[in-house]
Amino acid sequence: MLDKVKELDQEIKQFDINTPEQLELFRMKFISRKGVITELFEGLKSVPQADRRTVGQELNGLKNLAQERFETFSQLIDEQRTTANSAPPVDLTLPTIPNLTGTQHPLSLVRQRIIQIFERIGFNVADGPEIESDWYNFGALNFPDNHPARDMQDTFFVEKTSEGASSDMLLRTHTSNVQIRLMERQKPPIRSIMPGRVYRNETISARAHCMFHQVEGIYIDRNVGFKDLKDTLYHFVKEMFEPGTQIRFRPSYFPFTEPSAEIDISCQICGGKGCNICKHSGWVEIAGSGMVDPQVIANCGIDPEEYTGFAFGMGIERITQLKYVVNDLRLYTENDVRFLRQFEGL
Ligand SMILES: [Zn+2]
Repeated sequence: MLDKVKELDQEIKQFDINTPEQLELFRMKFISRKGVITELFEGLKSVPQADRRTVGQELNGLKNLAQERFETFSQLIDEQRTTANSAPPVDLTLPTIPNLTGTQHPLSLVRQRIIQIFERIGFNVADGPEIESDWYNFGALNFPDNHPARDMQDTFFVEKTSEGASSDMLLRTHTSNVQIRLMERQKPPIRSIMPGRVYRNETISARAHCMFHQVEGIYIDRNVGFKDLKDTLYHFVKEMFEPGTQIRFRPSYFPFTEPSAEIDISCQICGGKGCNICKHSGWVEIAGSGMVDPQVIANCGIDPEEYTGFAFGMGIERITQLKYVVNDLRLYTENDVRFLRQFEGL
């Protein structure tokens, strides 16, 4: 038995423990209840009484040795593992991680530019509801109930009320509702622009959408004439588009202005030579405008004998299309980063 103890003593001292696996093998062989040392303790019964004490002491020494080595090595292996898991040293010479924040949406860029141009010549920004009553969207703007112009602006009706057609609720088809609300609550002079979202009951295609953006403007004061309208819009076109852009006024019809004019500019894509965008005419329409109809001014409680004014409206998508050559309206709302990234840094 003492020979066996000596042999195991050597084995314990020489056992290679470098990995968690080797540590586990060591534990199984010498420490566990099925290990060799436990086995030897069980054999103690068959040792003659006289030698049992000496052998017992040797066995205890062996057991302690095994336990000690196990603890030393499990601590060492633990330390190795912690060092391996800790973060590598920081290299301060590496380039920084790029800051991948998003870009401004092209429509936001153009809306901000439009606001900036008009603010510099004294217009402030007004806002109003997108869910509007029939009166503010149509009635007050000279669209009687059965007026054919309503057909061109079919929209989404939210609620039919029992108080008559003029209080039916709908999604506004233009931002002109804000003009009416503004004239109702503010005494002239009024000089404001109204950017916002508008809705039409249209099938979505490259050229039409059920949701888009407009900016309208209104200027009401004493002695405001058609010359002021032309000067204001000439200024806008000069600031917004390439130098040398031509502008023309074309007679038109809107229920809420008289006289009315559509505003064309020379095509930004082909420079006036003719292309698909301008349908080979060299001109593209960018806005509608006119002198506010005296009846509309009277509808808002302002005396049309004393005050006159002009109004204009344009689609932000249209201006963006011309400025950045965007040929499909749907791109604006599809959230495709390949499209949106092209406006980085603008
Ligand atoms: Zn063209």
